[in-house]
Amino acid sequence: MRPTSRLRPTRDTVSTIREDGSHRFLFPADAAGRFRRARRAAALVLIAAYLSLPWIRVGGYPAVFLDVARRRFHLFGLVLAAQDLWLLFFLISGLGFGLFLITALLGRVWCGWACPQTVFLEHVYRRVERWIDGDAMRRRQWAEAPTTLSKILRRTAKHAVYLALSAAIAHLFLAYFVSIPALWGMMRGAPGDNWGAFVFIAAATGIVYFDFAWFREQLCVILCPYGRLQSALTDDHTLVIGYDWARGEPRGRLGETGAGDCVACDRCVQVCPTGIDIRQGLQMECIGCAACIDACDEVMLRVGRARGLVRYDSLSGLTGRRTRWLRPRTVLYGALLLAGMAVAAWSIGGIRPAVLSVTRMVGAPYYVDGDLVRNQFLVRLVNKRAEAADLAVTVRGLPAGAAARGLDAPVTVGPLGEEVRPLIVQEPRSRYAAPFAFEVEATDRSGSFTLRRALEFLGPDNIPAPPAPRAPNSPIRTAAPANSDEPPRARP
Ligand code: SF4
Ligand code: SF4
Repeated sequence: MRPTSRLRPTRDTVSTIREDGSHRFLFPADAAGRFRRARRAAALVLIAAYLSLPWIRVGGYPAVFLDVARRRFHLFGLVLAAQDLWLLFFLISGLGFGLFLITALLGRVWCGWACPQTVFLEHVYRRVERWIDGDAMRRRQWAEAPTTLSKILRRTAKHAVYLALSAAIAHLFLAYFVSIPALWGMMRGAPGDNWGAFVFIAAATGIVYFDFAWFREQLCVILCPYGRLQSALTDDHTLVIGYDWARGEPRGRLGETGAGDCVACDRCVQVCPTGIDIRQGLQMECIGCAACIDACDEVMLRVGRARGLVRYDSLSGLTGRRTRWLRPRTVLYGALLLAGMAVAAWSIGGIRPAVLSVTRMVGAPYYVDGDLVRNQFLVRLVNKRAEAADLAVTVRGLPAGAAARGLDAPVTVGPLGEEVRPLIVQEPRSRYAAPFAFEVEATDRSGSFTLRRALEFLGPDNIPAPPAPRAPNSPIRTAAPANSDEPPRARP
């Protein structure tokens, strides 16, 4: 019978967990072939990018530098301040819809080809394991062998290399937040000089080491939310790695009468890094690494049959039907991706080299002080460039009689710096009738950009007339009704 469901539950537990709940450590065999070579090339490019981005300088700063301490985020020459972080919504949602679209079209190509978990595990840590312990059979033998001096030495060497690699990955990760020179300075200092960084590195090293030395594929199978979303993001027309049931079954030895193309060698199972049998249909544990394609192609070539018994195809294609690339979900994800990218591009195009923000000072929204109504603000100027900025700050749109104080001189903001100035706006009480709008404007001395913020001047709804100075012993007078021509009456 052919597989019918897309994600078939083939057993009660996942492949890497034993019946008693303990971790079943896997020893996947090596598979050689075109996908293996292509994945290794992709992994080298990705690892090289991870290693080099903090070193490559664009506009005087690392290509990717998330300077949390100074709230500046450098992305390939684009500098974002904390005030620009709303843009991340569009960037992250764009990336999310991009991943949705790729998943709907190409299945778990991200997991198998580009996810850091797969890249580092398959192309760094497993290589160390093969180099020290040997191939899959030797690794299993070492694991099951009694404890001897040779085994202890081998294990110590392997885990020392794992730890060194984990520490290197953790240090480089920190460099994305503090820059390479600052990281180097911290490394030369005593741990007590940089306790925060030291604890971060120790924790990150421990997590990376635990993950790649022991936890491994369980992260994909048990923890990763993206893996869990597969059944919602894919359908019968999504490109997956599948077994051609019609061609392969019934399985049988080479030359057996009536047998299909599958020679039941189990090579596809031996190479699987998550320990599943692709012949049982598409399963949640499959990370799309294509190792089983290479393994089966190798077997097929050896027995003189066509490659592709296990191959990239949609479930539709594997059952002899046409694969449809244009589907409602791919159109929807594509449209959302384009919309997100368009908004992100438009928003990024509007980013200025400085930020002006004006907030009301803590306290009352206005003060009535003698004959004046007063509003108090804080003007914050953030320079996102590597050179100082001279900004002339002016207040525009005040009605006659109103005045602003505090921003008379130009403000010089240092490279990547920030300056805060108080701004007092006041209006004679007798002139104030209702809230009014005005604007704070900051202009770069070179005239290359102008920033504006709209504000509102507030005051009391009904301002009582200021008490007239009273002559000694004069009678107290009350105000006449507003609609009356009567002169004020004396209070009895
Ligand atoms: S079934 Fe094949 S593609 Fe899926 S994880 Fe195993 S080896 Fe990789
Ligand atoms: S590698 Fe190919 S031939 Fe061998 S068991 Fe797997 S599907 Fe069958």
